[in-house]
Amino acid sequence: MGLFDRVFRGSDEMYFKAESELNQVIAELGESAPMTMPDTAYFLACIYAYLGKKVTTLGELKEALAQLRAMMGREYRTKSIFDSGVATACCAEVIEACKYARNPAPYEGTQYHGHFSDAEVRELGVPLVTKDIPGFVVIIGPAPSQEEAVELVKGYQSRGIFVFMIGGVIDQIHAAGMATGFPVRVVPVGDDIWSVGHVISLVTRATMIFGATEPGDADAFHRYTCDRINAFVNAYAPVNDITVACGAGAIKLGFPVITNDTEDMWAVPKSLIINTNTKDWIETSLEARGIKIKVTNIDIPVAFSSAFEGEIIRRKAMQIEMDGSRVDCIELVQTKDAHEIEDHKITVEGPDFDAFEFGSKIPIAYIVDVAGKNMQTDFEGVMERKFHSWLNCIEGVMHTGQRDMIRIRVSDAAYEAGFRARHIGEVLYAKIKSDFDAVVDKCQVRIYTDPEKVKEMREMGNHVFDKRDERLKTLTDESVDVFYTCILCQAFSPSHVCIVTPERLGLCGAVSWLDAKATNELDPQGPCQIVPKSRPIDERVGRYEDVDEAVNQYSHGALEHVTLYSIMEDPMTSCGCFECICGIEPLSNGVVIVNREHAGMTPLGMSFSEMASMTGGGVQTPGFMGHGKHFISSKKFMKAEGGPGRIVWLPKALKDQIADNLNETAKELYGIDNFTDMIADETITEDMEELYAFLTEKGHPVLGMEPLM
Ligand code: SF4
Ligand code: ZN
Repeated sequence: MGLFDRVFRGSDEMYFKAESELNQVIAELGESAPMTMPDTAYFLACIYAYLGKKVTTLGELKEALAQLRAMMGREYRTKSIFDSGVATACCAEVIEACKYARNPAPYEGTQYHGHFSDAEVRELGVPLVTKDIPGFVVIIGPAPSQEEAVELVKGYQSRGIFVFMIGGVIDQIHAAGMATGFPVRVVPVGDDIWSVGHVISLVTRATMIFGATEPGDADAFHRYTCDRINAFVNAYAPVNDITVACGAGAIKLGFPVITNDTEDMWAVPKSLIINTNTKDWIETSLEARGIKIKVTNIDIPVAFSSAFEGEIIRRKAMQIEMDGSRVDCIELVQTKDAHEIEDHKITVEGPDFDAFEFGSKIPIAYIVDVAGKNMQTDFEGVMERKFHSWLNCIEGVMHTGQRDMIRIRVSDAAYEAGFRARHIGEVLYAKIKSDFDAVVDKCQVRIYTDPEKVKEMREMGNHVFDKRDERLKTLTDESVDVFYTCILCQAFSPSHVCIVTPERLGLCGAVSWLDAKATNELDPQGPCQIVPKSRPIDERVGRYEDVDEAVNQYSHGALEHVTLYSIMEDPMTSCGCFECICGIEPLSNGVVIVNREHAGMTPLGMSFSEMASMTGGGVQTPGFMGHGKHFISSKKFMKAEGGPGRIVWLPKALKDQIADNLNETAKELYGIDNFTDMIADETITEDMEELYAFLTEKGHPVLGMEPLM
């Protein structure tokens, strides 16, 4: 018995399990019964990706299973064990799919996550390109002890690695009281090894969404996953044959497998690594997958990692709260002269956290003074906007809001560990000095908890914000000399280029013109390059020779023309991580917009996932366009087609979020008051005909506009 036999035996086992599950569910529901996975536009993604087959019924699933069997090379075993492994992982998807054929939410009420939605896959886009998430690990089986399981998962968490868990390790992690879920990036996928099908499904969809990989082109998938998806597997002994077979599939995708099982295992250099010292796995794994992690040393008594960004601190675990809606609070960056700053000086004026009882609400102001030869006051806001994410990365600290409307909670555990006011300063100092090193030479942090002093700082800060907002208002596409590219997402969408202008932020919502400008200053050879706008061709649609040249150059020839303000003529491309997608609604000649968080339908008869699947991977698709939330209320939104007056439907939550700005824009452009009252949402209708009647009743401006096509 060797590794080959184990893989083929495991493949057989997985196949027979899939076959019997499928036969059973077909006996119950019939071959014509529908087969859909929830919230995805990619069918059974593994099968779609590898076989190019769109499975929509159980009968089609049966055909697909036969093809997978052929992929395993059962009769002559002529196929490589790695292909057989891939087919095994696809069979895992079949087994899981059978659960969903019977019940659309088979994991509800369990400790397992099961299937991932397309929105979850897309959510990973930005953190992956910014290396906030440097990679993924799939941990299989129970660790030798609960302590070791916790150590491993926390070790990955502290390095920002996204953790998928399968099998016994899940009970160990939950028994230790650790929080799990998509927001904290530790996901209990399922108990059985076939739940690995959900992870492979996520990987194949990422490949289709961000890489525009052609379904059915298995080689293209493997190239993409090898080159761009930093995943690996940790499998604890004893590893059964079926897991060994899945491991062979992982290796084919370029994901190394690390195990302590020595029975009939052969090490394959860089791919199958046998290491019985399980305490070394993190180092071994990162090295095998070539993941380098940038560590910023921060002098605080708790952990600091992007894994804690989604952590929620509930009232009963809240030692202290700073709540800008109840007490004075403010956070601010100020540019100073170098001689006014003592680098790394952190002062706290007023009582520290230990002067307050459990559950107290206290005022706080933290003013970050920076100085540097290349510092510009425009970057103050850019830095401030990072505070949210930085402070959230502290284990046991939760931050929401900005400016004087912040709320910070410090957990009792963080407090017990010794977390005090000055540590907020340590984090801000360390991150400013590492992330903005090219513009900040010196930095100090002043923290105030004294109520009088905080009040004074708040007034001073609000004055600064007013001035800054004035400046932002005057920042229009016409008032600046240059735009910027952003090609961060090329890590996943090799030909995608965003053109970022003052009135059109990047489609991910995370990169404004000022952000791009700062990025360019920080890293002149980096993702944000200057695009002059000296040679306009057609200002109505936002066509510039300079912009065309830039997209041509940075898309490596994949794109020739892009307009800034049109959804119909050479619209900007999408990578996959857009906050919203808009698509034309043919009956009214308007557009429907849906954000990633909205799970329901739209009047186009498509959900976010389905609309989103119409565009992506850096390809131009007139009529559909990914964009940021802020862009909706921009005067440049579809300017060529008449502007935001084209919007006929928005999810209610999104509409409420942007109402003030959108109404202001509509008032200015069309002289209409409360424009958002004319826009339908899911509480009004999800039907095209009804939508038209609603628009007519409201006298929506789109009805007077030119046809879109
Ligand atoms: Fe990606 Fe565009 Fe956002 Fe840059 S601006 S991170 S390229 S989506
Ligand atoms: Zn992107």
